[in-house]
Amino acid sequence: MDKEKNESVSLKEDPNRDHRKIGKKLKFFVFSNRVGAGLPLWLPRGTVFRKNLEEFLIDVQKKSGYEMVVTPHIGHKKLYVRSGHWSKFGEDHFKPIHTPHKKEEFLLKPMNCPHHCEIYRSQEWSYRDLPKRFAEFGTVYRYEQSGELHGLTRVRCFTQDDAHIFCTSDQLLEEFKKVINLVFYVFRSLGFLTYTVRISLRDPKKIDNYIGSEINWEKAEKAILKAVKEEKIEASINYGEAAFYGPKLDFLVQDSLGRNWQLGTIQIDYNLPERFDLYYKGKNNEKCRPVMIHRAPFGSLERIIAIMIEHTKGNLPLWLVPNQAVILPISDKYIVYAKKILNLMLNYNIRVFIDNRNEKINKKIRDSEENKIPYMIILGDKEEKNEMMSLRRHGLGHIGIFSISNGIESILNETNLKTKTIKLL
Ligand SMILES: [Zn+2]
Repeated sequence: MDKEKNESVSLKEDPNRDHRKIGKKLKFFVFSNRVGAGLPLWLPRGTVFRKNLEEFLIDVQKKSGYEMVVTPHIGHKKLYVRSGHWSKFGEDHFKPIHTPHKKEEFLLKPMNCPHHCEIYRSQEWSYRDLPKRFAEFGTVYRYEQSGELHGLTRVRCFTQDDAHIFCTSDQLLEEFKKVINLVFYVFRSLGFLTYTVRISLRDPKKIDNYIGSEINWEKAEKAILKAVKEEKIEASINYGEAAFYGPKLDFLVQDSLGRNWQLGTIQIDYNLPERFDLYYKGKNNEKCRPVMIHRAPFGSLERIIAIMIEHTKGNLPLWLVPNQAVILPISDKYIVYAKKILNLMLNYNIRVFIDNRNEKINKKIRDSEENKIPYMIILGDKEEKNEMMSLRRHGLGHIGIFSISNGIESILNETNLKTKTIKLL
């Protein structure tokens, strides 16, 4: 994946939605000067949010024929010289790490693509094996000037929801269309219903800024234009915005304030397969060059989390929120009943805990509201006697008294809303 543009377009500030403030208040992530600027530390709650996003995408990708891989956080400098990234970005990145004895140089991984090329190269492939789709939540490191760092949207370490697809030129169009549909599915599942699409092509006047042959560039640009047309997507064309190795399709989502954020991107690349001498055996056993597609629907986990927080003001959908419910016993007298409900809910994988602080119930409710916990389960005398639970919904107040099974069911129903309303691929 190319070095992406981190800034948002037409940004209107709203301090109440600032992901840096909300993220800190809800205990999702922090920054520490001791660790270093631009290096987020993920707290337990933020980690749950992040893992939920990962699991969602892993599941979607599994159903779409992707295979997960894992690669190291560093790579030999020669790897990036071969890929062309060194000559393009070398000076703008962290300096190489030197081994103590032999004079070897390693780089903190600025992108995952070269590693995935080597995974592809580790085996012989026939045309029957393709497409191969390797996906990784790959953490990368890029040097940003300290003045340019901004919360989670501009950091020095982030994790891309990266994947590289290796296919034949005949498969390129279909594969590209599949990726477009996957990206749209992901956006809809996250509640982003308005988005714009941008085709980024070469600047015809500055052909020298790009690597790769003219014929391959033409093929790649045509494939993107055709895929967009066949999928009936309205897209603008931006000349001069292509990655240095290939044209791309960028997706911008609109948040609840009408701000556009660049998220997903799909890029076609004929160049890396050439540089890494990747091939597959064709029908007549001849050596053929695969085409590579780079894609990341979120862009990065950091970026999607920042945008989700600002989009929802921290009121995340139930399937993503770290703590879905809190049990609030009116006094210690009801703690045994509270534990019974806790265990039942944990069995249903509801992310719930008991607030057993020695505080008045009103204070506990206020704190839960402030922490944007969607469901509050209030237990007192009446509830215990009748094996019931009083439910409050964040922002709505009291929503009723439910039997234990009905209460659990309504929480589970809302958790499953994503999969019920969205058509699977
Ligand atoms: Zn890539």
